[in-house]
Amino acid sequence: MARNFKPYTITQFHSFINNLKLKRKINHIQIHHTWEPRKSDYKGESTIVSMWRYHTETRGWQDIGQHFTVAPDGLIWDGRPLEKDPAGITGYNRGGIMFEMIGNFDKGEETLEGKQLDAIIAAVRVLLTKFKLSMNDIVFHREHSPKTCPGTGITREWFLNQVIYRGTIEQNSNSYENAEVWKRIAIDWLYEEGLISAVDWKDNINKGLPLWAEALVLKRIYDKAKS
Ligand SMILES: [Zn+2]
Repeated sequence: MARNFKPYTITQFHSFINNLKLKRKINHIQIHHTWEPRKSDYKGESTIVSMWRYHTETRGWQDIGQHFTVAPDGLIWDGRPLEKDPAGITGYNRGGIMFEMIGNFDKGEETLEGKQLDAIIAAVRVLLTKFKLSMNDIVFHREHSPKTCPGTGITREWFLNQVIYRGTIEQNSNSYENAEVWKRIAIDWLYEEGLISAVDWKDNINKGLPLWAEALVLKRIYDKAKS
């Protein structure tokens, strides 16, 4: 009996989630580390298959526990179907989307960094937007368990700061279509109020306007206020 797993790059994950239609109500995102396998054990799909075997054969679960596994090379491997609750935190799985990050992130062991960190942060951002969740809906395993998971080397404060501030490496991150909902709402307002009219600006939503365009926006506000 074999089970295949599919890897997504960040960009592929982004469009997969954006096009996803789920019946299950999503209310939180679970963050875990595998502890074992370690980052140094990762060998591509066979590592995911080993976890699946362990979960189904040794532990007797129906499928691999997690929805996604984030690998040291930055690939996001699929897992349990998203219409099913995960097997991540005993008693707290309803409505969760579960990430396992391959590695042992306890202090003094391995470090969450580079492409793997880019991938988990980008994936969490995509899900926060898609399911209209807040930072409070990001759940560390240890918050409901005596375990250290996702590792004593990862504090909640540091992780959430990454979610807020880490530079995005998604392609076309400047485009309106790929922007977070709250950015699109702000931009829509600018156009609805007629403060900006040229549609081309939407291709560079994270960049500033040149001074002359800012002046035009200010003049339009000024004229509205006077009239
Ligand atoms: Zn865990």
